[in-house]
Amino acid sequence: MTIGIDLDDTLIETTKTGNKYLKKFITDKSISDYHDLSKDEYLKFYSLYLYDIQKNAPLKKDALKVLNYLHSKNIRIVFITARGTLGFSNSIPITLEYLKKHLVIYDKIIFKKNHKSAAARKEHVDLFIDDKEKVLDEVIKVGIKTLRFTEEKLSNHDIVSSWCEVKRYIDKLIGEVKNE
Ligand SMILES: [Mg+2]
Repeated sequence: MTIGIDLDDTLIETTKTGNKYLKKFITDKSISDYHDLSKDEYLKFYSLYLYDIQKNAPLKKDALKVLNYLHSKNIRIVFITARGTLGFSNSIPITLEYLKKHLVIYDKIIFKKNHKSAAARKEHVDLFIDDKEKVLDEVIKVGIKTLRFTEEKLSNHDIVSSWCEVKRYIDKLIGEVKNE
């Protein structure tokens, strides 16, 4: 079995970390999420802080534990991420170094994918996990099972809000239901 996993806001606490840097960037308190900046401001914010965010954002709670567990079950782990686009190519070495530093186990990583369905299919991904509805809408169309990592309650996809829930979900898929 192969599981495809997104990095930002799925494996890594990116937005929450980014919004801490936003406070240094603007005094306008009406914006609390850097994704709500205008395109120009967003790129300016990125050029100042993106690499710091990518170096310093923590892994989501229990993510490492669950990845290790999946690996122990011989599940192949493929990260598919948009990182490396928008001219921020240093994101690639920064991310590789980050994964090494945090002892993240994975089999493959694919960068620069805003659209993930083709890469997921090529890698024979059985289940793809991402925080974005739009990404999963594309992935499900090519016949891949999807799981959305979100605090939201409404989705066209199955949803989880923690890595413990991801583990339970996958345990069910592989027929390994145990009490923790
Ligand atoms: Mg994401």
